[in-house]
Amino acid sequence: MNAENKVLVVGGGIGGLCSAIALRRKGIAVDLVELKSEWTVYGVGIIQQSNVVREMSRLGLLDAYLDAAYAFEDVAIYTTEGQQLVRIPGQRLAGPQYPANVGISRRALHKVLSETAIELGAGVRLGLSVESLEQDSNGVDVLFTDGTRGRYDLVVGADGLYSKIRGMLFGDKYQPRFTGQSVWRYNFPRLPHIDHLANYQGPAGNAGLVPLSDDLMYMFTTSHEPENPWMAADQLAAQMRVRLQGMGGLIAELREQIVDNEQVVYKPLESVFVSEPWYRGRVMIIGDAAHATTPHLGQGAGMAIEDALVLSEELTSAGSLEEQLQRFMARRFDRCKYIAEKSLLAGEKEMARDREFDRIGLIKEMLELTAQPI
Ligand SMILES: Cc1cc2nc3c(=O)[nH]c(=O)nc-3n(C[C@H](O)[C@H](O)[C@H](O)COP(=O)(O)OP(=O)(O)OC[C@H]3O[C@@H](n4cnc5c(N)ncnc54)[C@H](O)[C@@H]3O)c2cc1C
Repeated sequence: MNAENKVLVVGGGIGGLCSAIALRRKGIAVDLVELKSEWTVYGVGIIQQSNVVREMSRLGLLDAYLDAAYAFEDVAIYTTEGQQLVRIPGQRLAGPQYPANVGISRRALHKVLSETAIELGAGVRLGLSVESLEQDSNGVDVLFTDGTRGRYDLVVGADGLYSKIRGMLFGDKYQPRFTGQSVWRYNFPRLPHIDHLANYQGPAGNAGLVPLSDDLMYMFTTSHEPENPWMAADQLAAQMRVRLQGMGGLIAELREQIVDNEQVVYKPLESVFVSEPWYRGRVMIIGDAAHATTPHLGQGAGMAIEDALVLSEELTSAGSLEEQLQRFMARRFDRCKYIAEKSLLAGEKEMARDREFDRIGLIKEMLELTAQPI
């Protein structure tokens, strides 16, 4: 592809915006449609590990991104009483002058990505989606939900877990599945010693603290919720405190400060994995639309960002579109499958309270694998 070609990206989340940025940097024309008319994201944070920092650098975003983020080096695992089990030093994959890892608020990340995509000339339209697609050997005719039409060389569905584009390609073959766990998150003022990713694990459960800025950090904890219960909004803080019962040390201290129901972000965990090539002809899916998993390895968005970069590289390399998409799949499938499966495994072991499970070994293995070039 080159400057004469045009790609439609469906979905303005992390994967869609990074696709728009990466494609624009290669000179390809991009339109992006986002279903939400108010382009907001919820107000918790996200961990971006060293492979993601490297890809942000390759997207040409690192400085703006680091300005909005909290840079840190190490990942540590403690018992829930606070005894350190391991401290894994960060790997500076973007270069020695850049940090290994980053914690960033989703809103700050969204601001950097959306402003950059627009500055680079992506044609962004909000409050609409794709109504129907019709492809032939030279392009895709798209009817949008507002009645307008467009013709594109490629359509990239980056429309998340409940992807409409995935449904258009594969029918109802791939449906999100509730994994049996939910995650609870809550923001706190950052404590000076939470200057790294601190995971806590023990027989009573697990939790983590992630620095997001000089002033802010967030706590997460996962819980086993076999019946996927509905949580009353006025009970969220009390329910989160219950999920942290039995943990000592810092987590117990912070638990008592969880009092504001509106600050609790509760989410049942769901996953889906498309186990065949993520495209048909000139229509493809990336990110959560193709491989949504649980946050146990903190790599879901990382995989969406890597998808975006690899796609832009392959689309501007030699061969037919079919050959380019085949090479994209060869570079992405096993890596995303590993993250999807191992994240689910970690959740299953938590639900089974399996004390033999080598979580530290898994985290080290994941960091080694994701450090490898894509
Ligand atoms: C609790 C939790 C914690 C997480 N923590 C981390 C973490 O620390 N680190 C990490 O790397 N990952 C994390 N993840 C995973 C990460 O959030 C996702 O992998 C990432 O957001 C996927 O990006 P995406 O662009 O593919 O999808 P999304 O971010 O879901 O974006 C999809 C976009 O498409 C839009 N859309 C939906 N349908 C349509 C449609 N029909 N037409 C047009 N637009 C549409 C949506 O409004 C949205 O803007 C976490 C996930 C969860 C659930």
